[in-house]
Amino acid sequence: MFKVNQDYLKLPGSYLFSTVARKQREYQAAHPEAEIIKLSIGDVTQPLAPAIVEALHGAVDEMAHAETFHGYAPDLGYEFLRSAMAKNDYQAKGCDINADEIFISDGAKEDCGNIQEIFSKDSKIAVCDPVYPVYVDTNVMAGRTGTYDAATGTWSNVIYMPCTKETNFAPEIPEETPDIIYLCFPNNPTGSTITKELLQKWVDYANKNGAVIIYDAAYEAFITEENIPHSIYEIDGAKEVAIEFKSYSKTAGFTGVRCGYVVIPEELKGYTKNGEKISLNKLWNRRTCTKFNGTPYITQRAAQAIYTEEGQKQIRENINYYLENAKIIREGLEKAGFKVYGGVNSPYIWLKIPEGMTSWEFFDKLLDEANVVGTPGSGFGPHGEGYFRLTAFNTKENTVEAIERIKNLFLQ
Ligand code: PLP
Repeated sequence: MFKVNQDYLKLPGSYLFSTVARKQREYQAAHPEAEIIKLSIGDVTQPLAPAIVEALHGAVDEMAHAETFHGYAPDLGYEFLRSAMAKNDYQAKGCDINADEIFISDGAKEDCGNIQEIFSKDSKIAVCDPVYPVYVDTNVMAGRTGTYDAATGTWSNVIYMPCTKETNFAPEIPEETPDIIYLCFPNNPTGSTITKELLQKWVDYANKNGAVIIYDAAYEAFITEENIPHSIYEIDGAKEVAIEFKSYSKTAGFTGVRCGYVVIPEELKGYTKNGEKISLNKLWNRRTCTKFNGTPYITQRAAQAIYTEEGQKQIRENINYYLENAKIIREGLEKAGFKVYGGVNSPYIWLKIPEGMTSWEFFDKLLDEANVVGTPGSGFGPHGEGYFRLTAFNTKENTVEAIERIKNLFLQ
């Protein structure tokens, strides 16, 4: 009799966003007249920028002719796109990253989830609390997290780094030394950022303690303030300790097109059981060539268009559109009496919910009485309890309407 991977059975019943979607569906079925506004899942609403659409059409036309047809893409990505990424996202900003250190993928979720495969099963991970659930869940699947304590919502073999309002929602160096440190800035769900000085502390700590930092920069393009790093490679010593993820999903509306990338610098070395140094770039290369047949040519041509002058201008307009929504949410909630965080360098707004309510109770109240859907903070980790996440990814009209409804509900 075959057996399933027992580690999967340890996972919570369903993925956070599936639960949110199910509750919304059930409410809609029971109240067909309700006009529900979704400020929950972070999916974009604005269409692709014209420069990207044009590149897509061009690439599709190429696929229609034998001379310009493209089959499997190179496993690691086309040189034209890897060079554009290295040049525009790094070298132009003073970071010494070259095309060979970049691996193109079909989105950062897969990369966030798969990266743990190249580390030893007994590695100890450290995560922010609250956190994007993919980091922990994929380590659960890999059998790395120990046992689950339902009372505290924590895993025995995971180091949780509380991110609270007292620390501006940034993690503090943990007492116990981790092997793998997951950081995400601008942060999902809290919308917080990290200063260069603080990130330098983390890089120094990782260098000193032989840890690797997995740095998720999926929301980097939303940074509006000075002195906030757009990449961990702006920090001295980061090439020796950090892997970085980037995504075009929110930056350029690619949630349905699918493209992201991983940076693994040549300098970044792990250790074998005998203490020999080994290149993580080579390991990830080996893994990718074995398990991935490349991001589609059409998609990569579309991504290349992001780096043209018009592409840059057009995607900036879309990002500003969402940042304007974030401002509407932030200011509206403040008027309604909430304490609000994030939403300045991020499309996420993290709000403190009224005392005496759990974040799922707040979810139900908002759905039931304002027909607005958000995401309960507790779904992101124990320290998310008492908070709620709203996203700027809806139309401006819906955002204004949702905030009016929330104001009416809480200003009574
Ligand atoms: N990382 C973070 C922090 C995210 O919030 C998301 C998407 O919501 C991703 C990665 C995944 O992005 P992608 O659409 O590129 O898979």
